[in-house]
Amino acid sequence: MNSQANSNLNPGATTRATLRENTTDDLAPFIKPPVLQFEIGSMRNFVYLIILGNSQNGEPGARPDVLPNNLGEAIVIDPQKDLRPLQSACAQYGVKITEIWLTHSHHDHIAGVPALLDADPSIRLRAHQKDAHRLPEAAKKRLTIWNFGAPSSEVGDPHGGCLEFKMGDLNIQVIHTPGHSAGAVSYLVSQAQSQAQSQTQSQAQPQTQSQAQPNDSPPESYLISGDTLFIRDCGRTDLETGSNEDMFKSLQTYKKLTPINAVLLPGHHYARECFSQFSDELKASPPLLCNNIEELQNLP
Ligand SMILES: [Zn+2]
Repeated sequence: MNSQANSNLNPGATTRATLRENTTDDLAPFIKPPVLQFEIGSMRNFVYLIILGNSQNGEPGARPDVLPNNLGEAIVIDPQKDLRPLQSACAQYGVKITEIWLTHSHHDHIAGVPALLDADPSIRLRAHQKDAHRLPEAAKKRLTIWNFGAPSSEVGDPHGGCLEFKMGDLNIQVIHTPGHSAGAVSYLVSQAQSQAQSQTQSQAQPQTQSQAQPNDSPPESYLISGDTLFIRDCGRTDLETGSNEDMFKSLQTYKKLTPINAVLLPGHHYARECFSQFSDELKASPPLLCNNIEELQNLP
């Protein structure tokens, strides 16, 4: 884990050789509404823009923190300083950024936050409480904490769980995935199920291929994992609030909650590819194949 993990803050580092052996030729960024991927900056960060659907069925949802339907609006995840690619995409798709969501608050994932907040006082910034301390003061004042509710035990259960709600046509799950940083979260974005499907399936459970109706293709899902899970690797755990134990638990959480047809969209362009099928990661990602913390620690 360490050699690749160290490249997290060292963009010049090479990636693991096995990555190249298992690659496809698909090196283009992931551009498939509702999720657009941009590689921006010298550290090869991936920034994501979620284009909200034009459904009129936006639901306030069960949680007080949930947003109303956002026709023509967009969410940016981990904005970089150079906002021009986002601005041109917004113009192209006819949307306006109304929300900034962070996977975590390391400097290379929040560089574009101050400019976006300054430009529009109505933009909302969201992150996990345990990553709030690294934000600039002005951003802290604008921060809305993801409300996971009280963890069952602060010591025994570092995972705050999963928050789920709908925005327009999309089902969003915010999953607490500490390990690289204590307040790291991942965003699982899925096309919302049709009403008929919703009535027959538990909304609390993400749909998997095995749960899909015979004549229905499963909803498309995208796992935006920040620096917790990379293609064929995971993030480093030796930075402030990082933890091997948390990382191992988060990897198990991914295996439990992520539909196998999901597309993995990581926080940096460290692998040859820009994205990967989660089903392929389940078969070939060394961290996801570890059976215990010791195996994770001993990865090369
Ligand atoms: Zn990071």
